[in-house]
Amino acid sequence: QKAEWAKLVGEQTTTKDGQHVELAANIGTPKDLEGVINNGAEGIGLYRTEFLYMGRTELPTEDEQFDAYKEVVERMEGKPVVIRTLDIGGDKELPYLDLPKEMNPFLGFRAIRLCLEEQEIFRTQLRALLRASAYGNLKIMFPMIATLDEFRQAKAILLEEKSKLVDSGVTVSDEIEIGMMVEIPSTAVAADLFAKEVDFFSIGTNDLIQYTMAADRMNERVSYLYQPYHPAILRLVKMVVDAAHKEGKWAGMCGEMAGDEVAIPLLLGLGLDEFSMSATSILPARSQLLSLSKEELAVFANDMLYLDTADEVEQRVRATFMNE
Ligand code: PEP
Ligand code: MG
Repeated sequence: QKAEWAKLVGEQTTTKDGQHVELAANIGTPKDLEGVINNGAEGIGLYRTEFLYMGRTELPTEDEQFDAYKEVVERMEGKPVVIRTLDIGGDKELPYLDLPKEMNPFLGFRAIRLCLEEQEIFRTQLRALLRASAYGNLKIMFPMIATLDEFRQAKAILLEEKSKLVDSGVTVSDEIEIGMMVEIPSTAVAADLFAKEVDFFSIGTNDLIQYTMAADRMNERVSYLYQPYHPAILRLVKMVVDAAHKEGKWAGMCGEMAGDEVAIPLLLGLGLDEFSMSATSILPARSQLLSLSKEELAVFANDMLYLDTADEVEQRVRATFMNE
């Protein structure tokens, strides 16, 4: 099987009925790029920038960040690179920020909430991203958006930093797409409102599932409720994809679910445009997608939205596509 997969490194990902989907990789640092390139990713669907901020005693400077972002877009040679702005808080702490302990860190002061309040941290990162945009195909994505107001504020700050840079003679790409993670149920349910203002969505199922099922993603005792194939989750995915397409935008997924062989037929059928996963999942996923028909799966996936349980959905997928 490994030899079969290796032949697919330089290939596009085209389904049996000739539809192209994009298979991208999730990375945490430029060091991950070798694996990404060796596994034939068509882009980076999620660069988790928090690792630049972790394991040190002070914030990274604008230049340090610029170097990292520039390296990633340059080595991807024009392929799309979605860079997510700082998503700290929840399970990821930064001791040097000295934030007060919270009762519910996953529901607390994290990610875009922190960035909109600690604007110097946010603006520094945005300037580094804007400067790096001149060197490749860089897209910017905001994490943990809950309201349209937050997206608008974040975008306004980004545009402010951009015009300041341009005024001072710095080259900044004019084609940066600005998107958001869909990982809070409010944004999936109201995706039609967001779709008018974003350039793309990327569904963060790791958080979307925990918030939809009210089950802490780190807590073993409630992990039975962490159900990617639950019809509720599939319906949310459908709402996001449909809302995006209605506005001519694209929708991807960068949570773990995107690389899961049971989820892939469902996600293809629901119309997902981009699947972003760990580099080692890319070739198996490509091999699987080559054998699937998007048109046939649209009917199948729609039926799955009306089954009673996640288990039934999983059994149906396995019985239909995996000879189990
Ligand atoms: C997600 O929530 O699905 C996601 C991709 O982000 P993270 O795992 O970094 O929270
Ligand atoms: Mg998340």
